[in-house]
Amino acid sequence: MVDKANSVPTRRIVVYEAFRDGKPLGIDLDPRVLTKRFKLRPRSSRSIVKEGSQAVGLAFGEVIDWDACGGSGGRKIHWICPRCGKKQWGDWSSDVTNPCLWYSDCNCVDKWLITWNDDALDWHS
Ligand SMILES: [Zn+2]
Repeated sequence: MVDKANSVPTRRIVVYEAFRDGKPLGIDLDPRVLTKRFKLRPRSSRSIVKEGSQAVGLAFGEVIDWDACGGSGGRKIHWICPRCGKKQWGDWSSDVTNPCLWYSDCNCVDKWLITWNDDALDWHS
């Protein structure tokens, strides 16, 4: 039985995914970002960027500075799956777009489209 209150809101968008030797490297909303991030060569047969329409989960994230919280690892973007409640995070940098795409760490969806706020950045500046 599907509990509607705990379902994941989704949206169908165009996703770009980079592969090298058949292994997924990363995903983004902009293929140029993938080319730059993974230093893909345009005529290489080993590296490709696939384009496809996919339903991705919608989530809200928050940027948290792990260093400022007594840990290490720099700034991370945190979000929680609205269905299973699993806390997930990924590396954040100033060139991360808003919203951004991320692989999912739970089985509810494959990928997340995360709208984030960086209020946390101001706490320590
Ligand atoms: Zn989940």
